[in-house]
Amino acid sequence: MVVILLGPPGVGKGTQGARLVDDLGWVRIATGDLLRSARRAGSELGDKAREYMDAGELVPDDLIVALVREHLEKLDPEVGVLFDGFPRTVPQAVSLDAMLPEVSRKVDGVLLFEAPDDVLFKRISGRRSSPEGRVYNVYFDPPKADGVCDVTGSPLVHREDDRPETVERRLEVYQKQTSPLISYYDAAPTRVMRIQGDGDMEEVRGAVREALATELGAGAAGA
Ligand code: AMP
Repeated sequence: MVVILLGPPGVGKGTQGARLVDDLGWVRIATGDLLRSARRAGSELGDKAREYMDAGELVPDDLIVALVREHLEKLDPEVGVLFDGFPRTVPQAVSLDAMLPEVSRKVDGVLLFEAPDDVLFKRISGRRSSPEGRVYNVYFDPPKADGVCDVTGSPLVHREDDRPETVERRLEVYQKQTSPLISYYDAAPTRVMRIQGDGDMEEVRGAVREALATELGAGAAGA
């Protein structure tokens, strides 16, 4: 089974994706996470991607497609795959459609997460994280003292691509380059399941599980 998580930045794809793979025992391929670890490792790909990412632009399709191919080839053929943040352009989707049959797979469904732009803007631009990985939001879940972690007292970091100007750009890039994928998949024999992403996290999780179970027969028995 191959399912794609589609939706604007900040809509909660990452959070829901992580829960889904826990629930279903699938593998998640999140290109944003792979690029961030390539940057931390100082690899050539990481260096090439840095400038695009910090400006809120998309990394070129050929680099992304090569990265995904490398991960697809290593997968156990039986395991379900959840793509998070990929594809992000129509050419990436076309490449994915060409690559999957080589590993005897196809896209089975798309979970499309939607939320109003003002909610997305606050969710991303308000995000602050501690070096230990605790995440706060200055609008929705602020730390007790400004700019420091409640637990460790470490200074909180505002990611470069979460700064307001960059967030505006990321939302624009989504509209222009990624949202055409909605009609691409609507026109394909692929189930597009629409999920309202701005509700309570557990409600969204329930909606995702229900959509997968009723539309694809996937994971109905999961915890
Ligand atoms: P994300 O964590 O998914 O929001 O991704 C962070 C950044 O990585 C994006 O703003 C892009 O610069 C880059 N990126 C991640 N996935 C892709 C992709 N499929 N195509 C192009 N750029 C990507």
